[in-house]
Amino acid sequence: MVTERVEVAIVGGGLAGAALAAMLADAGRDVLVFERQPAWHWRACGVFASPAAVAELRRLGVEERTLTEASQPIPAMRVESQAGTAFRLTYGDDGSGRATAVGFDRSALDPAMLSIAVTRGARIRRGATVGSVELGDGATSGFGQRVRTTDGDMTEARLVVGADGIQSTVARAAGVARATRLPSRIGLTYHIGGDDRTSPDARMVVFPGGYCGIAPVPGGRVNVGIVLGGRHWRRALARQGASITARAIVGDLPRDAEAPEPWRLGPECEDVAGAWPLGHAVTRRAGNGWLLVGDAAGFLDPFTGEGIHRALVSARVAARAILAWLGGQHDGLPSYERAMRARFLAKDLVSHIVQLFLAWPALFEYAARRLASRPRARETMGLVMGDLVPASRALDPRFLVQLLSR
Ligand SMILES: Cc1cc2nc3c(=O)[nH]c(=O)nc-3n(C[C@H](O)[C@H](O)[C@H](O)COP(=O)(O)OP(=O)(O)OC[C@H]3O[C@@H](n4cnc5c(N)ncnc54)[C@H](O)[C@@H]3O)c2cc1C
Repeated sequence: MVTERVEVAIVGGGLAGAALAAMLADAGRDVLVFERQPAWHWRACGVFASPAAVAELRRLGVEERTLTEASQPIPAMRVESQAGTAFRLTYGDDGSGRATAVGFDRSALDPAMLSIAVTRGARIRRGATVGSVELGDGATSGFGQRVRTTDGDMTEARLVVGADGIQSTVARAAGVARATRLPSRIGLTYHIGGDDRTSPDARMVVFPGGYCGIAPVPGGRVNVGIVLGGRHWRRALARQGASITARAIVGDLPRDAEAPEPWRLGPECEDVAGAWPLGHAVTRRAGNGWLLVGDAAGFLDPFTGEGIHRALVSARVAARAILAWLGGQHDGLPSYERAMRARFLAKDLVSHIVQLFLAWPALFEYAARRLASRPRARETMGLVMGDLVPASRALDPRFLVQLLSR
């Protein structure tokens, strides 16, 4: 039963879907977002973002008051190796406190983004899970794409966008979803209560088979993000479950000698949420009558700050391409693929190299020691990780010599 027609159907009302819906609706386009969650609740996702992501939110028109309420400034991320070597990445913080990385309160940010989309004219259907997508020929004039919800409603659209994360239904319907080349990993996230003595810095502690990030967020709480790979952790998770495993990992983190850690004794704020398998790759990000944004368009690993910034940039680049395509420019959608490739190819390469280092503890230790003792190399690494300079800076032979030479 056809229930309605819409110009653009967006599957997924996370940050990427909400940002895209806001921009398309602002340009006068008829947009409908399907979001399976009836109301916001914590799920496996990230909170740590560089100043570049905050700049994208400002560009989108998110008000300063919302940004202040939804984020906690993080002056630096302290990365700690298995052997205890530590270095601080400042993500371009100039000391003024205005351009720091942040820890987001997603319970404030995500609903704020959806309400911006609604204010600009997008419609959001909450509690609507898209069960299947049928892709037509993608003629710009027709309504050839069909989106079916699990309760049987059908919507016809000129374009369907997958903003539905790492298990993207749209990517699967387009036949472009692939596993990443990395070994299978699982991500676990939750918050622990703390107080205003919590250190403003974030920590990223690497241990055998995984790493754990601790990022302060508003309200004195910290977000815990754990990534685990390998047979040992798979067995531990099967044997004792996510909560006990996560609690044991957090309990074993080395004590911070420089700052109090009130969250060590704090209450868990929600159940541990998991994502598996963590990575997701696609062979193409757009085709006839369909397009992917955010994690649905590919997500490697949170260690290199992949997600939030990329989700917002992809939404902005996609909005431009979609408006051109709806306006009759046949090259609109392919231009999105080209623009995304140009924007993120070097960063993807850097991220893969970092993953290689993570998989080889001796290699990671070697690089960690050099980053700890070489401020300029450390500064460049922070800027690259924070998407504040072209990632090609980290592939420049001069940087590699600075980082790796004895
Ligand atoms: C463990 C973990 C840690 C992370 N840490 C970081 C970090 O520190 N920093 C960072 O920048 N990024 C991090 N990320 C990634 C980050 O969370 C995402 O990039 C970001 O949330 C933007 O995602 P998105 O909007 O593309 O997708 P999502 O946030 O996954 O949103 C997808 C939305 O689509 C909805 N949906 C899915 N399927 C359907 C369907 N069939 N029908 C209807 N709705 C559907 C979901 O309910 C959800 O609301 C992390 C991710 C994980 C899993």
